[in-house]
Amino acid sequence: MAHAKRISVAAPLLCGKEAEYVQECLQTTWISSNGRFISAFEEAFATFCGVNYAMACNNGTSALHLALLGAGIGPGDEVIVPTLTYVASANAVRYCGATPVFVDCDSQTMNLDVRLVANRLTSRTKAIMAVHLYGHPAEMDELSALARSHGLFLVEDAAEAHGALYRGRAVGTLGHVAAFSFFGNKILTTGEGGMVTTSDPELASRVKMLRGQGLDPERRYWFPIMGYNYRMTNVAAAIGLAQMERAQDHIKARHMVRNWYDRHLAGLRRSIRLPNEAEHVRHAFWSYVVILEDHVSCPRDAFMERLDRFGIETRPVFHPLHTLPFYAQPQGTFPVAEHIAQRGVSLPTHALLTEEDVVYIADCIRKVLNQ
Ligand SMILES: *Cc1c(COP(=O)(O)O)cnc(C)c1O
Repeated sequence: MAHAKRISVAAPLLCGKEAEYVQECLQTTWISSNGRFISAFEEAFATFCGVNYAMACNNGTSALHLALLGAGIGPGDEVIVPTLTYVASANAVRYCGATPVFVDCDSQTMNLDVRLVANRLTSRTKAIMAVHLYGHPAEMDELSALARSHGLFLVEDAAEAHGALYRGRAVGTLGHVAAFSFFGNKILTTGEGGMVTTSDPELASRVKMLRGQGLDPERRYWFPIMGYNYRMTNVAAAIGLAQMERAQDHIKARHMVRNWYDRHLAGLRRSIRLPNEAEHVRHAFWSYVVILEDHVSCPRDAFMERLDRFGIETRPVFHPLHTLPFYAQPQGTFPVAEHIAQRGVSLPTHALLTEEDVVYIADCIRKVLNQ
């Protein structure tokens, strides 16, 4: 039976005052990076996370770049990065002239395998980047202890984890500095956008300067350092503020989708591994990722292709970064990340899905697995 509509893998939820606030930007002509929505969005986001400083910028990649620069990462430094992540995590390290050093992931959470980090530390290591992959918080207590004992910065890539909690504490507050993304497919969105969070006042003032061309806050048109133009527009911030007003709805919707999947895929647990949520975290479920068990003969790409024929869009798990030509690392093996990357599939995960959609997706998965 053909499904009447296509089910996309991601979709933004624009159910609040987004249009009204954008209209205000247009009517008042405040469409560039000045205007009331920037600071309102930053304040709302700082409150949401529970940090002293939230600094909006033009995308999540520049947020990561600013976070690393703010922490003083530069040429010659090494930064620990999980190999299983989106490419921007490592690119931001390279933009600083530093080198990403990859570490394999844990098979349950898909995050940095903390036990492997110590082996990869050298005298050049300056920071650990913890990525909360697909919304599951990384093992922050162990990483904090490692960072503390080696004098390293702990940077969170929280691009996929708005609203996730680790031992009751919000992601974005768990290291020295964190970066969020508001790309169109993220949990909260501004179309394109990013945010740096920290409670360190000096780090915050460096980030603010770097974001705005290095401009001296006390002296107009004076640039004591080389910065970037990574500013967010008032238009994007207008959307962001509207998203923050409904943040709890966005977060709840993803948990609802997760519960539907758990319920309707339960009978297929022999063939597909469902996402794990450690008992001390709240997963943000940016993406509901399932892994085809080894005995399933259907190759992952064929599985995705067949779902596509049922009108269901899916996405493969990220290619581990050490497999990309410009990040090939001769040292180290990454068997867990490679296995997940071969067998993992992101199912549609967004706030516009209905339980009917999820039932349909589960039925199609059952058919594909029985083919
Ligand atoms: C989306 C994402 C980024 C980059 O964010 P952009 O806004 O697309 O630049 C960085 N890291 C991770 C893990 C992401 O998912």
